[in-house]
Amino acid sequence: SEEKSLNFLEEIIEEDLKSGKYKDIVTRFPPEPNGYLHIGHATSICLNFGLTQKYGGYTNLRFDDTNPVTEDTEYVESIKDDVRWLGFEWKNELYASDYFATLYEYAVKLISKGLAYVDDSTSEEMAQMKGTPTEPGKNSPFRDRGTEENLDLFARMKNGEFPDGSRTLRAKIDMAHANMLMRDPVLYRIKHAHHHRTGDAWCIYPMYDFAHGQSDSIEKVTHSICTLEFVPHRELYDWLIEKLEIYPSHQYEFARRNLNYTVTSKRKLLQLVNEKYVTGWDDPRMPTIAGLRRRGFTSESVRDFCDRIGIAKRENSADLGLLEFCVREHLNKIAQRRMVVFDPVKVVLTNYEEGLVEMMQSENNPEDPETTHREIPFSRELYIEREDFMENPPKKYFRLAPGQMVRLKSAYIIKCDEVIKDEHGYVTEIHCTYLPESKSGHDQSTIKVKGTLHWVSVQHAITVEVRQYDRLFQIEDPASEDGDFRDYINPESLVTVNNAYAEPSLKTAKFDERYQFLRKGYFTLDKDTSEEKMVFNRTVTLKDAWAK
Ligand code: ATP
Ligand code: MG
Ligand code: MG
Repeated sequence: SEEKSLNFLEEIIEEDLKSGKYKDIVTRFPPEPNGYLHIGHATSICLNFGLTQKYGGYTNLRFDDTNPVTEDTEYVESIKDDVRWLGFEWKNELYASDYFATLYEYAVKLISKGLAYVDDSTSEEMAQMKGTPTEPGKNSPFRDRGTEENLDLFARMKNGEFPDGSRTLRAKIDMAHANMLMRDPVLYRIKHAHHHRTGDAWCIYPMYDFAHGQSDSIEKVTHSICTLEFVPHRELYDWLIEKLEIYPSHQYEFARRNLNYTVTSKRKLLQLVNEKYVTGWDDPRMPTIAGLRRRGFTSESVRDFCDRIGIAKRENSADLGLLEFCVREHLNKIAQRRMVVFDPVKVVLTNYEEGLVEMMQSENNPEDPETTHREIPFSRELYIEREDFMENPPKKYFRLAPGQMVRLKSAYIIKCDEVIKDEHGYVTEIHCTYLPESKSGHDQSTIKVKGTLHWVSVQHAITVEVRQYDRLFQIEDPASEDGDFRDYINPESLVTVNNAYAEPSLKTAKFDERYQFLRKGYFTLDKDTSEEKMVFNRTVTLKDAWAK
């Protein structure tokens, strides 16, 4: 196998291991439980877990649940499901909210060292004193409060004596600092809100910058990997760790991965769900892990995709075509072949014995050297795809047409003799003769035909619903376009065939099985399947339809 060159994080880690800085490494995947995971998160998961698999050590799953308002237990459960489905096991399941008491102690320590103060300014006043990137900010009038007063006020903030927004705790750094985030950043805010895990125990909550790095440190995370927008936060990350004299975790940044023809912001995805553009977080058109999974993507193909796009230091968008390529490759190897006619026209074999049923043998997967076979009933009346017949075909048309021959997959060669139409000229039946000596596997007809069609026996077919999905958005980057991203939703992102005719073996289709409907695409059973009707989702077409 070919040697892959190291990415920049692997280089850093190999250096750290070689120098003896670490014996093995600790990473974490830190989702905020305020939505379902999407394909961008998958790259972060593959990266964090992949590094500890490669270099030894472990990865924690840490819920970054310090914002009480937007978080929910439903999201926690979905995140755990999705990480497991992707094929990874975390060492510890942790919650930043479990550190609230420790973080409070850390804040007290900073106040005691004269490095934090309670500010009574409103957020508008603070914004005004912040300065600009080229002009220094102004010191708050509360900046020089004494330590005792600060400790007292902070304790009273915690005890619920003050309303939301009336006071904050700020680090005392430098209001003229070149990095705006170092201009006395807010560490704690007052929020009388119920938290999904700590309930009403707290009414002050730490800001991201006073929770994330501290959580990393508490867990002795060696390499804390986040996305590029946190580059300016690194200075504060390091400052807090240094001043608190706690375990020195280090932050590294890589570029966020977006996917074209979709959006990967939880806020926007939530909008699609709430405003019913999709049926839920796991709608098969969503770029969420839950959506991809329901659509029939395999975890192997999603990991393969993450591996192929690798990691970068510059923001860029990955190609949906590549994700589809990855799943097509995998499904070609594992999918069971079946025949399903989406838009039927009836073929009557006039020389085939009435009432006779033959069982045809067909391979379940020609890509598998050890493939098994299944039996498909064949009879006098069959359905083929309406689009596989043309009354007045152009030259080199190899499908069915008057006087022309085709092979029916795993069955016989047939010849079209007569076309039956209704009074509107609509084709209702095609009368054909079959060549008895042309049976697949025992063909003695010496006739070569170029077209092979899929078919089902009318009396044996089961009706199923088929949902065909396309890109959710019509343009490559709906989020960055003018106007509202919702204006670019593809109105044909879902095309449903209510009554498709499937060979009877699909009666026993299973949820974890993947199918190739011959000439149609890759499909999987959907959870909307009921006693009355089986529902199949198209995962992906057989060929890249856009590569024209
Ligand atoms: P969103 O913008 O969708 O809210 P987020 O970064 O706020 O995303 P988190 O739950 O905080 O979502 O993300 C957990 C981890 O996944 C973080 O380390 C984050 O950097 C990473 N991550 C999120 N989105 C992407 C992405 N598009 N590409 C790569 N990593 C991502
Ligand atoms: Mg985040
Ligand atoms: Mg977010």
